[in-house]
Amino acid sequence: MDTKTDIKSLQHFIGGDWADAAACETFEVLNPLDDSPYARAARGSAEDMNRAVAAAKSAFVNFRDTLPKERERWLLRVAEIMEDRKQELLDCLIDEIGSPIQKAMFEFDKGLTMVRAAAGMCRNVRGETFPSDRPGTFSMSVREPLGVVAVITPFNVPLIKTTRLVANALAVGNTVVHLPSEMAPHLTVLFAQIVAEAGFPKGAYNVVTGYGAEIGDALTGHEDVDFVTFTGSTVVGQHIAEICARNKTPNTLELGGKSPTLILADADLDKAVPLAARSIFMFGGQACIGSSRFYVERPIYEAFVNRFAMIASKVSMGNLRDPNTVIAPIISDRQRQRVKDHIADAVAKGATVTAGGEWEGNRCQPTLLTGVTEEMTLCRTETFGPVTAIYPVDSYEEGLEKANDTEYGLSSAIFTKDIDRAFHFARNIGAGMCHINGPTIHDEAHVPFGGNGESGVGREGTDADMEAMTELKWVTVQL
Ligand code: NAD
Repeated sequence: MDTKTDIKSLQHFIGGDWADAAACETFEVLNPLDDSPYARAARGSAEDMNRAVAAAKSAFVNFRDTLPKERERWLLRVAEIMEDRKQELLDCLIDEIGSPIQKAMFEFDKGLTMVRAAAGMCRNVRGETFPSDRPGTFSMSVREPLGVVAVITPFNVPLIKTTRLVANALAVGNTVVHLPSEMAPHLTVLFAQIVAEAGFPKGAYNVVTGYGAEIGDALTGHEDVDFVTFTGSTVVGQHIAEICARNKTPNTLELGGKSPTLILADADLDKAVPLAARSIFMFGGQACIGSSRFYVERPIYEAFVNRFAMIASKVSMGNLRDPNTVIAPIISDRQRQRVKDHIADAVAKGATVTAGGEWEGNRCQPTLLTGVTEEMTLCRTETFGPVTAIYPVDSYEEGLEKANDTEYGLSSAIFTKDIDRAFHFARNIGAGMCHINGPTIHDEAHVPFGGNGESGVGREGTDADMEAMTELKWVTVQL
């Protein structure tokens, strides 16, 4: 760290060593609250990526044979060191990406459980035995690690995604090359320090920082990369899917969302409205599983809008280190412009701003829109800000139909006391996740997390990653 200016200097982590970019180039990372310089990171090139993949490939030769008890011990040690360095991780989440402390704490707690749950995977890399029609044959499957796993993570939940995906890949015996978001490299560098201190062998985990648009292809298209797990925008996910398809590289893609919440007339509004607010305003709406469409049965529509607007007007935009603060700065100029454009376009085309709509510095007020119609961009497109639309519906059936009228399919929610309708919704919603009487924002280490359609391919989680990040081999013994 540069003590004079307090700007962090970040290097790649390759083969257990810290290294500048081969071309000695760097890039600047800004604190999104006030755009002040936060860090200067190595600007990776294809050469750096090739070195990282070579280090991971070479480390895999021995790492694949490490014992479950070793990987388990290293991962549990990672969790211990995370606890020791909790304040540093929290500060990074606050100052590097603008997390309010309550979101940073949430992310830290989730991250810890991700690592601990991954430790539990080490002893569960299991196959099966099969009966055989060939006399005297013992027939079985063994589950083997794939090799080098490319992990690509977004800016918004860097600790959750890093802990889950890196820990799960390492738990089952793969080695990793990680490309973190160019807007959140410090968090990943801290994690790499922790992994190194925990005793993982050199080269098991490698980090290359830089611009994804410049060096992503060198990773996802590398012939020695055996699996790609990507979390980020749908447009980049589509590009990666095409590269992986060409190379037949298996992958999971966790992409954008436009998650719906349906509120039926019998819902308990005292509970539903605060949860609705949580499901869009947390981290200033920069959550893939945030609910950006609310469909409300007409008898309670007005009451719901009024109460939601009341909560929205009170959601705190205070100091990020105040536990009551909810609203985060929007991460970058490009993203701020996108949020502004979506609101302006809706207003120009006749939508009503029922709450919010203004900016305080780089933070957008919690914004509710009514009267949103098909021709408005935000009706179907992900905004990734604290902005949501509320639509009246005349029946449960209409609500379900509208909820399903989207190219995305990530999370969903329904609020009702009618168990039959709740389960009907859960079975018929075209989303990867559905929460009954709970917000669309929910994640746990061991559940199948992910979406359909434009929201992605495959699932994350301990069981899902066990399947995705290993392959089965059939072995017979002729006795
Ligand atoms: P992004 O797509 O801009 O970037 C994500 C990552 O991809 C970054 O690390 C970036 O460096 C990298 N990247 C960019 N171009 C690349 C390329 N050509 N090849 C390989 N990597 C490349 O997304 P973002 O702005 O960081 O994150 C926001 C998006 O992520 C939103 O759409 C959000 O919905 C989505 N997201 C999804 C989930 C989920 O689990 N489904 C979780 C969090 C965020």
